[in-house]
Amino acid sequence: MKETQRTLSARKNVALVAHDHKKSQLLDWVSTHAEALRPHRLYATGTTGTMLGRRVGLPVECLLSGPMGGDQQLGALIAEGKIDVLIFFWDPLNAVPHDPDVKALLRLASVWNIPVATNAATADMLINSAQMSADFSICIPDYEGYLKERTGD
Ligand code: PGA
Repeated sequence: MKETQRTLSARKNVALVAHDHKKSQLLDWVSTHAEALRPHRLYATGTTGTMLGRRVGLPVECLLSGPMGGDQQLGALIAEGKIDVLIFFWDPLNAVPHDPDVKALLRLASVWNIPVATNAATADMLINSAQMSADFSICIPDYEGYLKERTGD
């Protein structure tokens, strides 16, 4: 598929999600990196975001709770180019009822090639990256071209 460029601006839209057994780890991670996260716009699934708002005091745009549609809302925002970075502490050791939504979220993050951290080590590398607070260009699918190919125009 042909690709085009998208520039993620210095002020990024960062999505934060943690499964239940990973919530305390994400809360600690956000507390540790609160100053680095402050310039960005934060989005989160409902429970994660509510807990973050209380614990860290950063403004967070809360979507629905993940199992109730929040993961799908985030996926839609990614497809629309409204989320730039995904920090998703998913739980590799426990089954969740919304596994299809989790897969769909990670799939769309890959389709649209946004930076994704699924564990604390990668999240540390992302937040400490110079590109986090600078314009950063990513390759994304050329949607117009994709549609033209499919419709034969
Ligand atoms: P929650 O959703 O923040 O509402 O717990 C996270 C998830 O499990 O996707």
